Amino acid sequence: MGGFVALVGAGPGDPELITVKGLRRLSSADVVVYDALVHPDTLALARPAAELIAAGKRGGKPSARQEWINATLIEHAKAGKFVVRLKGGDPFVFGRGGEEAEALTAAGVPWEVVPGVSSAIAAPAYAGVPITHRDAASSVAFITGHEKPGRAESRVNWAALAQGIDTLVFLMAVGRLEHIAAQLIAHGRPADTPAVIVRSATTSEQATVAGTLATIAERAATAGLSAPATLVVGAVARLHDELRWFNAEPSAVLAWASARAVPVTSL
Ligand code: SAH
Repeated sequence: MGGFVALVGAGPGDPELITVKGLRRLSSADVVVYDALVHPDTLALARPAAELIAAGKRGGKPSARQEWINATLIEHAKAGKFVVRLKGGDPFVFGRGGEEAEALTAAGVPWEVVPGVSSAIAAPAYAGVPITHRDAASSVAFITGHEKPGRAESRVNWAALAQGIDTLVFLMAVGRLEHIAAQLIAHGRPADTPAVIVRSATTSEQATVAGTLATIAERAATAGLSAPATLVVGAVARLHDELRWFNAEPSAVLAWASARAVPVTSL
């Protein structure tokens, strides 16, 4: 019998933010092909007998690596294995999940996608920034800070983003903050628009830097903010001051909630 591939979102960082369905798939897979951003505690939820394959470190060029990943998924599925392709956040949000699904379809391998909590949503949430708000934001866009290398013209429509969308969430934004802020200001977004950048959201390493389009790049550089980080721009970013709630230290309330929780193993 042929195998199967589940493209599973592992969530943004905190291993508890995987879905119940994703966890079930992970705990029954024969082979788990995982990305660099997946937390070791998440991998520990795989069957002890499962073969774990790191997808983050192979190959020189990113394209060679992607071909190798596609081939690995196809090879194990064709050998009759149940393969989980475990990806950070959501597989179809800047995760190359679409390319993998196309490769599997072309190879005749059956597959499914188990959505995950994207860092595009979780990073703002953990910084106390609601990406929509009845008083401040009716639209939101997710944008890559790094476009496919070699593309002659930017596919990002800066004027449309700057003027037409209330909340802008940039992934892969570290190292591109100056460029992003300059483009938005040049295309009509006020320089005093609030902005927050969140690193390693949902983990004990979470850090945030707040400012405006005019100041955010310099403040992030001063703070030495490193990847992975997500940038939120728009009026809602101002709420960070008032609504920041996440403390990497476990709180008494959370300890109480965890103590009452159903053990993961019995889900
Ligand atoms: N599929 C993933 C995104 C992969 S692209 C998702 O849905 O979350 C990788 C980018 O995601 C990083 O450059 C960063 O911008 C963002 N990211 C991933 N984990 C993050 C985290 N814990 N905190 C903040 N941003 C994160």
